[in-house]
Amino acid sequence: MNPAANASLVGFESKRSTRDLIRKNILAYLREEARLPNQEITDETPLAQLGIDSLGMASLNFALEKEISKRPNQEIMYELENIKQLAEYLDSLPVVTDSPTPPSVTPVNLGPSIEAQEVSPQVPAPVEDKIAHYERLNGRVRAVKAMGLYFFEPEITEHDGPWVVADGKRMLMLGSYEYLGLLGHPRTKQATHDAVQHFGTGHHGARLLAGTTNLHRQLEAKLAKWMHSQDAIVFSSGYVTNLATISTLVDHNCFIIGDEWNHASIVDGCRLSKAPLLTFKHNDMNSLAERLRQAEGRRTLVVVDAVFSMDGDIVNLPAVIDLCKRHNALLMVDEAHSLGVLGKTGHGIQEHFGVADGDIDVKMGTLSKTLASSGGFVAGREELVTYLRHHARGYIFSGALSTGHTAAAIAALDVIDNEPELVVQLRVNLFYYLKGLLELGFDTGCTVTPIVPIMTRDEATTLDMTRLCREAGLFVVPVVFPAVPSNAPRLRTCISSLHGKPEVDFALEVLAKAGKQTGLIK
Ligand code: PMP
Repeated sequence: MNPAANASLVGFESKRSTRDLIRKNILAYLREEARLPNQEITDETPLAQLGIDSLGMASLNFALEKEISKRPNQEIMYELENIKQLAEYLDSLPVVTDSPTPPSVTPVNLGPSIEAQEVSPQVPAPVEDKIAHYERLNGRVRAVKAMGLYFFEPEITEHDGPWVVADGKRMLMLGSYEYLGLLGHPRTKQATHDAVQHFGTGHHGARLLAGTTNLHRQLEAKLAKWMHSQDAIVFSSGYVTNLATISTLVDHNCFIIGDEWNHASIVDGCRLSKAPLLTFKHNDMNSLAERLRQAEGRRTLVVVDAVFSMDGDIVNLPAVIDLCKRHNALLMVDEAHSLGVLGKTGHGIQEHFGVADGDIDVKMGTLSKTLASSGGFVAGREELVTYLRHHARGYIFSGALSTGHTAAAIAALDVIDNEPELVVQLRVNLFYYLKGLLELGFDTGCTVTPIVPIMTRDEATTLDMTRLCREAGLFVVPVVFPAVPSNAPRLRTCISSLHGKPEVDFALEVLAKAGKQTGLIK
């Protein structure tokens, strides 16, 4: 055999073995971690179709590093479409000779009495400081802080309508979820005050034991009516609501099918349930239909966001309902960002699309956004709510929602119904703001709701834009990987009914200046 042919054969062989290795690891991950049934994976199968999430990618990455001494960049791995591309990428990487940094052995001070003892062979060798592992993982945060580009957890000390004082500076708030401005509404504040005066600041324990008050009952009855459902149950946070509800409704014998852009709390609820999660392409009904066919024969929960929290677009609910009915799948919709926002009177996605009362089986919502409180809820059929009340561990084993928060949410629901002009004002402000951004040349993605992303090209520009806006008195929020894909960083801005024309004009002026300075717009 001539040397050239031999060389190409070697190249071919090495790629084949890399592909086999990747396939082996992916199959192991799907079987053992994601608990999916065996499936046919070819070199061309789209990785996105396999539903490998960030944790899956991280464990695949780790296994590959261990087996072939290559250190792939996880962000690049996300961009690759299939095993063939992944193998080519791995083959292009140099072999790393250093093993992953060994833990530094810091002697542990065991105190004088130990030193005085005779050292027996059973005494374990000094181990790494227990916390050092975590500090190593803090590397990125420390680096960003050192560069003065850490914009998370700004400390808010004042709140006055749409204005706040954050880190000592007065700024226009353009990153809040209070879409209807109810945080400072006299009725929500008075209701919270009255509840605390009456019941004190906390609660007597879990709801099933001593934690239920007449306010909890009132809120659940009101939510049921408001959501056009038979019954409702409240939890102590929206995150816990998704975790507790999803993990209680399905188990390892079921399938969950979710939009790939679903909120992290939904994804975590799916993981906790141990049911295999099949993701479908964002808002793509052909992809959902294919997943439903795959899940045929098992009890299936389809779960979607009503409004996607990083992009502001709306799920194609009528088509989702139609598919769920055809496949007899249970449908759960997270209305965190649709309450007070969608529908003529702000009652959410059912009103927006005009679908029938029973079409959404599980209507999940948070109290922490439009409703100016904290907590979450599920509204649905009475049988389903009764089941959750007696089986959802996040309800049974957690203290009741505080009475102050309960009262605030009741008042907020009343305000939305009594002051319909707030919902109208929100739409007027949104239209004016969006039009302004588009005229300036910003890319706002696919939003049609008050969550308005401003796409920023790369992480450095995102942080620069944030800095320039904050320095000029505009509170915007940077969103980077892993909250969004590494190729889609953005500022996420939120408009509210409090942002009148002068506030929107101010926001547009600051954004325009920052956009020009960073080269994001001309
Ligand atoms: N679902 C969605 C879509 C969300 O955006 C959030 C929070 N941002 C949650 C659930 C969790 O709600 P909470 O913050 O009330 O815990």
